[in-house]
Amino acid sequence: MKKTEVAIIGGGPGGAATAIHLAKKGIKSIIIEKDTFPRFHIGESMTGECGQSVRDLGLEAEMQNVPKTIKWGVTVYGQSGTGTFWLPVMKRDENGELVKNFTWQVKRSDFDRIVLDKAVQDGTELVLGKATRVLQQEDGTVYGVEVRLENGDIETIEADVVVDASGQTTFLSTTGIAGKKERGKYDRQLAIYSHVKGARRDDEDNTLIFYEQKNHWAWFIPIDDETVSIGVVTPSDYYRDSNEEMRDFYLREMHKINPALSERVPDVTLVEEVRATSNYSYHIHGFTGRNYLCVGDAHRFIDPIFSFGLHFALKEAGLAADAIAAYLHDGVGRDLENPFAAYEEYCELGMDTIQDVLDCFWSSPISFAFFAHERYREDFIDIFAGRIYQKDASPGLQAVRKINAKMARLEKEQPELFEHVPAD
Ligand SMILES: Cc1cc2nc3c(=O)[nH]c(=O)nc-3n(C[C@H](O)[C@H](O)[C@H](O)COP(=O)(O)OP(=O)(O)OC[C@H]3O[C@@H](n4cnc5c(N)ncnc54)[C@H](O)[C@@H]3O)c2cc1C
Repeated sequence: MKKTEVAIIGGGPGGAATAIHLAKKGIKSIIIEKDTFPRFHIGESMTGECGQSVRDLGLEAEMQNVPKTIKWGVTVYGQSGTGTFWLPVMKRDENGELVKNFTWQVKRSDFDRIVLDKAVQDGTELVLGKATRVLQQEDGTVYGVEVRLENGDIETIEADVVVDASGQTTFLSTTGIAGKKERGKYDRQLAIYSHVKGARRDDEDNTLIFYEQKNHWAWFIPIDDETVSIGVVTPSDYYRDSNEEMRDFYLREMHKINPALSERVPDVTLVEEVRATSNYSYHIHGFTGRNYLCVGDAHRFIDPIFSFGLHFALKEAGLAADAIAAYLHDGVGRDLENPFAAYEEYCELGMDTIQDVLDCFWSSPISFAFFAHERYREDFIDIFAGRIYQKDASPGLQAVRKINAKMARLEKEQPELFEHVPAD
C-alpha cells in the first residue's frame, strides 16, 4: 500500500501537468499510467495560450529538443474556397494590445513524454499500471485508488485527493463517482487520421482546416520538417455506408473534402497506421466532489476542429493544482459538501464559450467567417488563442450567442429545416 497527498489517474498532458504544478506548491503526488511512453496520441496543434501553459510548466527548453513546427495561425478553408478565413496567433501585451505570437505543433508521442518526464523529475512517483477501482469509505468519501500493476499485482494507493486525468476513458464517471457521461452535440462522428510524408506545404507551417459541410471536414497539421498529421472527420454513418476499408476511405476522402486539401496531397506516403476515434463528444456534469476532481478530457470533450483539447488539459491542470493546494494547505472548502465546486464552475465557463463558438460555426459557417475575418476580428483572435474565461462576453461572443439563440428558435419552430440531409 502506498500513501500520497494526490493520486493522479493518467500520465497524459493533463495528469502530468497537474503533478508539475502540485510539486511547485510542495504537494506530493503519484501518477498512475497504464501505457508505456512514448505512445501515439492524436491532437498535435496548440492554441496560443496553450503554448503559454507549456512555458509556464518550464518546458520551453525541452521543446527546443523535440521535432516540431511553429504555428503562426490557423486558416479555415470554406466549402470550395468560399468563406475562407485566417486567424493569427496573437497575445495581449501589458497595455492590452494584440501583438504577434506563435505556438507549436508537435508529435504527441514526443510532447506527452517530455511533460511526463518533467513531472517525474520534479518528484512525482510514476506507477505503471491501470487504475481499476476507487477506494471509498462507507459514507462514499473517496480516499484513493486500486491499481492493477503491469505484472498483474494489485496495489492500493491512498490519497487525500484523487485527480482523474484519464482522458476519454473518463474513469471517475465510468466508475460511478462523478456524474454520468452525456452525449455531446458532435457525437456520432468519426475521425480517421494518420501521419504522412510528401505533402505540399505552405511557406509557413500553420494549422489548416478544410470544411466540406456540417460535421464533415479535415485537418492538415505539419508536425516536423517532413511529417504532416492529416485527419478526415465524417458522420459515422457516412463512413459505414461507404463500405470501404478505412485506409482506402481515408486516402480517397482527402481528395474529396476540399480542393485546397486535395492539391496538397497529390502523392503522399503514410508513415503511421491509419487510426480512428469515434463518438468523442461528451459532457460530464458534476465532475468534482469531496476529495476528487477531473481534468481535461476526463470530464468533457466538445469537438476537435479548433484544437482546444491540450489547451483545456494544461489550463485545468494549473487551476486544479491551485484548488487542491487551497484545500489541503489552507482548508478552503473543508466545510463544504463539494470543496472543488468553484473549480468546476470556472472550467465550464471556458468550455461553454468554446461550445457556443462551435455551435455558431457549424450552424452558420458563412456568418462565422464574416465575424472572424472582419466584423469581430480581434474578439475572434482572442477566442482562438484561448482567452475564453471572461465572465463578460465580448461583442464577438455576444454576436455568436445571438445567432445560436436565433437558430435554436428556428429549430423549434421549423424542425423540418434541420432534418439530416444525407451527404452526397
Ligand atoms: C480526432 C481528434 C483530434 C484532436 N486534435 C487536437 C489538436 O489538434 N489539438 C489539441 O489541443 N487537441 C486535440 N485533440 C484533443 C486532445 O488530444 C485531448 O484533449 C488531450 O489529449 C487531452 O489530454 P488529457 O491529458 O486530458 O488526456 P489524454 O491525453 O488522453 O491522457 C490520458 C492518459 O490517461 C491514461 N489512462 C486512461 N485510463 C487509465 C487508467 N484506468 N489507469 C491508468 N491510466 C489511464 C491513458 O493511457 C492516457 O495516457 C483531438 C482529439 C481528437 C479526438
